[in-house]
Order: sequence, then structure tokens, then C-alpha cells
Amino acid sequence: MTARVLVVDDILPNIKLLEARLTAEYFEVLTATNGPEAIAICGKGQVDIVLLDVMMPGMNGFEVCKHLKANPATAHIPVVMVTALDQTADRVKGLEAGADDFLTKPIDEVALIARVRSLARLKVLVDELRARANTSALLGIANALQTDKMEKATGGKILLIDDRAASAERVITALQSHHKVELQRDLQIALQRLAEDEFDLFIINLGLKDYDALRLCSQIRSNDRTRQLPLLTIADPEERGRVLRGLDLGVNDYLIRPLDRNELLARVKTQLRHKRYAEALRDNVKATIEMAVVDALTGLNNRRYLETHLPVMLEKSNSRNRQLSFMVLDIDHFKSVNDTYGHDAGDEVLRTFAQRVKGVIRHADLMCRLGGEEFVVAMPDTPLHIAQKVAERVRFAVQKEQFPIDGGGRTIPVTVSIGLSASQGESAIDGLFKRADKALYRSKNGGRNRVTAEAA
Ligand code: GH3
Ligand code: MG
Ligand code: MG
Repeated sequence: MTARVLVVDDILPNIKLLEARLTAEYFEVLTATNGPEAIAICGKGQVDIVLLDVMMPGMNGFEVCKHLKANPATAHIPVVMVTALDQTADRVKGLEAGADDFLTKPIDEVALIARVRSLARLKVLVDELRARANTSALLGIANALQTDKMEKATGGKILLIDDRAASAERVITALQSHHKVELQRDLQIALQRLAEDEFDLFIINLGLKDYDALRLCSQIRSNDRTRQLPLLTIADPEERGRVLRGLDLGVNDYLIRPLDRNELLARVKTQLRHKRYAEALRDNVKATIEMAVVDALTGLNNRRYLETHLPVMLEKSNSRNRQLSFMVLDIDHFKSVNDTYGHDAGDEVLRTFAQRVKGVIRHADLMCRLGGEEFVVAMPDTPLHIAQKVAERVRFAVQKEQFPIDGGGRTIPVTVSIGLSASQGESAIDGLFKRADKALYRSKNGGRNRVTAEAA
């Protein structure tokens, strides 16, 4: 995996050192020697990860980070703060400023590469989701990128797997005022809980007594339900090798004992933010897909869906030697509803129409809005003479009661003309459409409010 890393430091030798290490691992490196320059480069949209020095003259690293995170165009770029060793307060301040991670100087090479890799992996996912969300923004779905949703990072449901009482106690004490922490000491029960409940985050003690915690991490990563969930490990300083192997297995982050309460809180917050960000984007993608095939006014499937799905229905009917009947419906003199009562009244009629028709057809029948006041119903397993009875029932359901308009303030009469066709073993849908349209034309010409079936 290659990613573009921006190294920001006011001291040139520091930049050179990081540049050399990252380049050796085939990362692409950009450099900046001050905050404003870094912000400008990020604004161009080509940075995957920022390594940000805290101590810089003028604008310091915290300010740069806040700036990047406050701008929706750059908020998703992972920022790693580079702090001096043992400056716990700095780390926490950085994470509070929205930084995703930190490294301490002098920078440990293995930790550097592991962290950059794990953030690069995340960035690929987020970029993909952002691209899709942009598409939905183009399609008119509001709030494609709700950054506030990412920021709310409390109330997480956390599963802590730890068989050391003192260690578990410390984690719970640190987190319980902001999150819901469930502790499991027994691995079998923990695995069961993983499978049956929805968690936002897992925290695992890397030094479990009776089980290899790394194996557990790998199980969590290979299970479909938990594959995407954030995973934090807690380790002793001498377990560094295992920490890194964990990162390679897909663990998102780690903490080294002794645990710092603020650091733990901040890291949990960062992971939850990532998760919620990805969730917001995923919801958005779902809405986009839905919107692509659903008519917003009536909630019925649209023409695009029909054109994809009708051939499937047709083929199924053909393969079972059954007939599929096809109904085209067009509301009579609908233009005059709009002209007389207004476009909103017209919309109300369209909604009520969709509901009424749906109410008298089977679940297996597919009703779609083709556009305007034209609808279709595809009826699998239905010969033409049965379809005629259904169409007559539909026609009557529309006519028998007036339609409410003005929010129910008054009612107006509405009628519908219907044309019917039935499949004749053909695999293309055009014939069905054409023959039903022709029949509809005859219904209109014959005086409207009637059903006509294609000539057998
Ligand atoms: P006919 O009986 O021959 O079908 O006459 P008609 O007036 O129903 O047919 P025509 O095709 O002339 O008019 C359809 C009208 O439907 C014209 C258009 O303004 C209206 N229309 C199309 N889409 C919508 C919509 O989404 N909402 C509303 N309110 N009106 C729509
Ligand atoms: Mg019409
Ligand atoms: Mg029309």
C-alpha cells in the first residue's frame, strides 16, 4: 500500500530523517516547514496522512491540527502529532485537538511505520466512502458529510476483555463516566458476547493468561460481524513485538502501561470518531442506493428499478411456463387537477393513488411509478383473464371514493385508464410495454376510466 505522507517540522534534519525512513518503505513524502504551508498543502486534497511536529514557531502543531479538523475538506485526513518524550500533557492536548495519533521523539522506526500503515489502511476506506457520499450530494441528498456526527464520541459501548483485575479496574474507572464498559474475564463468554451483541469498540489485554490475545484479535478481524470494529490493545512495555504484530493483524491502536487516563480516553474517542464517521458515510451510501431506485414522492420503485427487475421477473415466469401480466395505468385528465387545484394537490393525488392501488394488488406484484401520472404493475404467475379482474378491481378502487386534497380539507373525483398485456414466452420487455400502451390508448379513446386488454 502506498500513501502520501506530509511531514511537517520546522527543523530540516528532522524532516530529512522521517523522509528517508518513509521513502524506504515506499511511502510518498511531501514536506512543510511551518503550519500555514502545511494547511495549504492539505487543502489541495492530495495528502493521506500528516506527521505534525508540535513545537513550531508561529503556528504550533495543536493549532494546525485544530485548523485541519475544523475544515470539512481536510477533517478526514489522519494527523499524527510528533511530541517530545514523556510529554503526556502534550499527547492529550494533541488528541483533544483532534489528532488521530501521536509519536514520541526520538521516533521509533517500527512504531512509525506500523502507525502510518494502519492509518493509511483506514484512509483508503474513508476515501472510498467519501467519494460515494459526494455522489449522493450531487444527487441532492442533504448532509452528505455530517462532521458533527464524527465529533460526538461519547456513549460508546465497549467490550473489555481482560483477566487481570487491577488492569481492568483502571480501564473501567477511566472510561465509565463517558462510555458503557462491559468487562469479560472469561474468553468463552467474551466470544459469545461478541457474536450476540453490537459493540462500538473492543479493548483487549494483550497479556491474557489462558489464551493468546493475538489469536483473539485475529478472530475478531476475520469475523464478518466484527471485522470493521475498532480494536485497542493494552500491553506491557516489554510486549512491544506483540503490539506490532497486532497492528499487522488489523488492531487499530494500542496503549502501553502504565495507563494514562487521559490518553486512554482520547484514544478511545479517536476510534469512536472513526467508527461514527464511517457509519455516517455508510448510511449515506445506503440512502443513495435507495434513492436511485425509489421514487421520492410515492415511495414506489422507479423506472430504473423496473427496467432492471422486470427482465428478471419475466425470465422466471418463462422458465416455469407461467404468464406474467403487465398493467399500465394513467390517471385521467390529471393535468386539470394541477391546473385547477395546484401542483401540491396533484402530488397528494399521486400519493393516495399509489397507496390505493398497492392496497388491492398482491405483495408479489411489482408496482412502479414510471414518471408523471403513469404507473405500471407487473404481475407474475398471472394469465391475462385474471389480470383483467385485478385491473378492474384497481380501476374501481380509484373511482369509488374521492381523493383528499389540501391535507384532507376537500376531496375530488379521480379516475384511471388501464392497458393490459401478458407475456408470450418472450425474453425482452419491450413487447409487453408496447402492447399494454396500445391497450391503454384504446382505454383513453374509448372514454377513459376503463380497462382494455391486448387482443389475444
Ligand atoms: P389523459 O387523461 O389523457 O391522461 O390526460 P392527462 O391530463 O392526465 O395527461 P397529460 O399527459 O396531458 O398530463 C399529465 C400531467 O401530469 C402533466 C404534468 O404537469 C403532470 N405531472 C407530471 N408529473 C407530476 C408530478 O410529479 N406532480 C404533479 N402534481 N403533477 C405532475
Ligand atoms: Mg393522464
Ligand atoms: Mg400522461
